[in-house]
Amino acid sequence: MRTAFWLPEDGHLDPFFLVLANTESARRRGARVMTYTEVVGFSRAGDRVTGVRLRDVMSGAETAIACQAVINATGAWSGLVARLLGVEVRVVPVKGVMVVLSHRLAHAAINRCHKPGDGDIVVPALSVAILGTTSAKVPHPEVLPIEWDEVRRMIEEGALMLDGVTTARAMRAYAGVRPLYDLGAEAEGREMSRNFAVIDHEVRDGVKGLTSIVGGKVTTYRLMAERVVDLVARRLGVRNPCTTADVPISDHDDSLDQLRHRPAQLGVPKPHSGEHPLEPLLCECEMVRPRDAAPWFADPAVRTLEDVRRRTRAGMGPCQAAICSYRLAARLVTDRGLDGSQATRAMADFLETRWRGVRHVFWGSQLRQAQVGTGLQMELFNLDRQLAIDGDRPETREPRLPSRRPVPAEARG
Ligand SMILES: Cc1cc2nc3c(=O)[nH]c(=O)nc-3n(C[C@H](O)[C@H](O)[C@H](O)COP(=O)(O)OP(=O)(O)OC[C@H]3O[C@@H](n4cnc5c(N)ncnc54)[C@H](O)[C@@H]3O)c2cc1C
Repeated sequence: MRTAFWLPEDGHLDPFFLVLANTESARRRGARVMTYTEVVGFSRAGDRVTGVRLRDVMSGAETAIACQAVINATGAWSGLVARLLGVEVRVVPVKGVMVVLSHRLAHAAINRCHKPGDGDIVVPALSVAILGTTSAKVPHPEVLPIEWDEVRRMIEEGALMLDGVTTARAMRAYAGVRPLYDLGAEAEGREMSRNFAVIDHEVRDGVKGLTSIVGGKVTTYRLMAERVVDLVARRLGVRNPCTTADVPISDHDDSLDQLRHRPAQLGVPKPHSGEHPLEPLLCECEMVRPRDAAPWFADPAVRTLEDVRRRTRAGMGPCQAAICSYRLAARLVTDRGLDGSQATRAMADFLETRWRGVRHVFWGSQLRQAQVGTGLQMELFNLDRQLAIDGDRPETREPRLPSRRPVPAEARG
């Protein structure tokens, strides 16, 4: 390495906490958040949108909500949602693969000084670090294959920047999808614009009550929100100035804020000092206490153990839920009244989602770690045989992970 720059104004954020902070802030102001609920259609009166039709992707139940205005903010899915009303939004889904490394390799984002490319950024994320990323157009936002070659290339590139990339254990790989707004240029992946657009469908397509917000980045999301909400508010006759630029998202001393300070809060008692021992933990890797998870088990928007994971980070650390999964499943029995079979099914579903990421990095110490996890779940907890025993009982099929609508065959390629 010849030169390094430190940018004091550089920063990083936790996307899970950011989304939660936004939804919790909206709920405190009266919004209703409906998780696992998909817009499947609209109702219209002439040229005006008068409501949305919704489908619960877990139960399949359909409902409808009447409304005066709809904001289509569905990222890479914006084009598919707009198509339900027969209008076009040209958004291109661009896949990015990321690799989770078992240690927090640095306390700041580290970026290679070259034109953006694969494996050129390492971002700390509480106990772990994330190595990013790739950039490739995909035919559908839910077709996100992770190729072995992509993972290998990222680790090789990342190692040129930071030794720890190869000494840390690659714990899992996952892919996200960027919603890039197609301005019509023949650009590919990273060459495509990260700009955003507010589309007033009343002006452009003659569909009253529908506005789309597409493109952009996380770093511009509040500006995007301001632009689109200002437009819709004006149409509804609301003249109050938008305050999103001035109001902190987390303006409440709630558990979300405390999560950030958990390691400092828990502290480490000195041996033989007479200090109280640490509270028992639900998840040792991420230091999640039972009381951190308890409110989420009481929240109806939380419907699977995956939801608890996103809100607490339980299961996201180095052992990838090998231990905490059964403690979380036990909470489904004590806090939600599920029976043992249902909780076992929920635990298996939870482990399945962890497995989806782990299987891409099966080598070296991660392979050994996965064998420990499999041994615990299959030999000690008897999970696979228990599932087979319970398999015939229909009530064990709830709660299950949502079944999304199938991706169209032409998009699967
Ligand atoms: C690998 C990668 C790295 C990135 N790095 C950065 C970075 O360093 N800095 C930065 O600023 N940005 C970055 N981005 C971009 C940023 O993550 C995205 O721009 C941002 O997440 C888009 O937010 P969104 O809300 O528009 O879309 P999304 O976060 O995709 O949300 C859209 C939501 O709409 C839901 N939805 C879809 N269809 C329906 C329907 N019919 N009914 C109801 N809901 C529906 C989806 O389930 C989804 O939850 C990165 C993206 C990726 C993939």
